[in-house]
Amino acid sequence: MNYIIEKALDNKRIFPEEALILLREVDWTEIVHAGNEIRKRRYPQNKVGYTAYRIINYTNICSIQCSFCSFCRSRENPESFVLSLDQIRQKALEAKSLGVNQIFLQGGVHAGLPLNYYVDTLQMLTQELHVEVRAFSPVELVYIAKAHHMPLTDLLDLLKKAGLSSVPGAGAELLSDSMRQKLSPKKLSAKEWGDTMILCHEKGLPGSANIVFGSDETPKDIIEHLQVIRDIQDKTQGFLTFVAWTFQPQTPHFPIRHVTGQEYLKIIGLCRLFFDNISHIEVSLLGMGTSLGELGLYSGADDINSIVIEENVLKSHGLTTIEEAESFIKNAGFTPYFRRFNFD
Ligand code: SF4
Repeated sequence: MNYIIEKALDNKRIFPEEALILLREVDWTEIVHAGNEIRKRRYPQNKVGYTAYRIINYTNICSIQCSFCSFCRSRENPESFVLSLDQIRQKALEAKSLGVNQIFLQGGVHAGLPLNYYVDTLQMLTQELHVEVRAFSPVELVYIAKAHHMPLTDLLDLLKKAGLSSVPGAGAELLSDSMRQKLSPKKLSAKEWGDTMILCHEKGLPGSANIVFGSDETPKDIIEHLQVIRDIQDKTQGFLTFVAWTFQPQTPHFPIRHVTGQEYLKIIGLCRLFFDNISHIEVSLLGMGTSLGELGLYSGADDINSIVIEENVLKSHGLTTIEEAESFIKNAGFTPYFRRFNFD
């Protein structure tokens, strides 16, 4: 057995340079086997979690223009929108009628929205509808603070008081500055993203972390990303989950490569070996499909990254109901349990 895998199985932390060797040189089957072993030790009751939430994209107006994004529009574009409070309420009520009490608010970076828009939305969702809200990626938070000439720390206090309970790991993609230049030069640097996340965690706003890969990143870029996340977690313990996504084709000018099933599962296994400090490794059913998702649960993952209720009623590419999620997990050979955004 490879000595680095032995080390991980021996509950010893693996160094980034060792993770790089695993990624570059070690066969994927060895890594997923070890990832599965560690998952079994962590969760001897064979439990697999799922959660359910509705994403509400409150605006598609965005000044950042990431090269891979087809969602954003300029303010002048006739397809641009900003949802009213009533429209957001309506969408949250639709989710509630399906038994979904968690809302994930996500938008573009739109400097023209008044501060009250965010505060009123959070208050309406949490105080009137009593739903739990995860919202605003680090890039949204930084730009909202800038637009309103306020320190980020004050903005976080204000949003938390209004009802925000956790923040997504969105906008991280690949936290290596060379890749960020290609993905989105106007987005936060890796350090700015990390500092913002640390502040959120210190303010009592925990959340999730992710990686998005499958462009022209190198193995070194991937390990650099994992290292940034692990270092933040050592400081804050604010990440409850880590999920691996792949880039989806959206724009013609952003290079995407096909990520094979073996490569995806190898990343899942590697994450389980590398993240000795993050409880849950999620497999992305939405991005990779249910067949590969099932294998992900035997490669180190212990969570299926949710039923996500999509815009425009409630059409989803993955599992759409709690029953479907539970039966998927049972059929895969595990015991399902519902996980809230910020718990377990
Ligand atoms: S910041 Fe978000 S919405 Fe704006 S361009 Fe980038 S991915 Fe799209």
